[in-house]
Amino acid sequence: MDYQGNIFRPPSEAKSILLQVTTGCSHNKCTFCDMYKGSRFSIKSDETIMADIDFAEQNCKWQERLFICDGDALIVPQKRLLNILGKIRQKLPRVNRIGIYANTKSIAMKSEQELQELHQAGLDIAYMGVESGDDVTLERIRKGSDSKRLIEMGQKLTASGMTLSLTVLIGVAGRERSQIHARETGRVLTAIDPKYVGGLSLMLNPGTPLYEEYERGEFQLPDTLEMLAELQTMIEHTELTDGYFHANHASNYLPVKARLPEQKAETIRLIDRALNGEISLKPDYLRAF
Ligand code: SF4
Repeated sequence: MDYQGNIFRPPSEAKSILLQVTTGCSHNKCTFCDMYKGSRFSIKSDETIMADIDFAEQNCKWQERLFICDGDALIVPQKRLLNILGKIRQKLPRVNRIGIYANTKSIAMKSEQELQELHQAGLDIAYMGVESGDDVTLERIRKGSDSKRLIEMGQKLTASGMTLSLTVLIGVAGRERSQIHARETGRVLTAIDPKYVGGLSLMLNPGTPLYEEYERGEFQLPDTLEMLAELQTMIEHTELTDGYFHANHASNYLPVKARLPEQKAETIRLIDRALNGEISLKPDYLRAF
């Protein structure tokens, strides 16, 4: 396979065939993120992508999922994306789920009908970083979208029939806005009503603008218990029709897996016990972002 630069994929795509159709991220401005800092955004040539699908046909015979990476690969023009999906279906009949990264810009560039066409062509799940529902925080971290836009684009994507998985970032609002961020993020998640929410706990990466703010004393990272309290408030304020709120990533202090709405009360009680010191938490040296 032709892999250029760093390749990222969601944890749930760990066993998937990774088909890189873009390099980097077309936004590349979020202040906490260093994923694609060294990469220039580009869409790879059809020739390279098709050769990779041929390679997967020969060498990835048992994988049933495929993930289209990198950054916001949904930004690939419609005709080319449909061709790629058609070739995947033709050459990799065992693949029964195809996923992709999306953001508000790439969703906005597709019409509702185009998103439905992609879903009908086999695109099953899209992953989007919301990070926060708090407009002040979204502006500070240069997410490139406000909460209204996140809600509109999230709803647009789910209306196509595709499954949506959202990521939120515990701690990203700093100490000062921690609880506001938690409540506002719950509001946005409730309005979008995705199938999956993944909560990650912020770790500051040297070289990122947010790390520099931290070094200058302009950003204060919430401590362990403040992050847990933030997660608890976020879950309290999130109403999903039938979804999952998971915060069991390597960065989290307490693994949380909640089916909502059924397990909301017991999850809040679990976090209460952790806040009261009845459950031991992951030490910082075992965390990874
Ligand atoms: S968080 Fe996502 S959208 Fe923001 S710069 Fe990183 S990859 Fe791009």
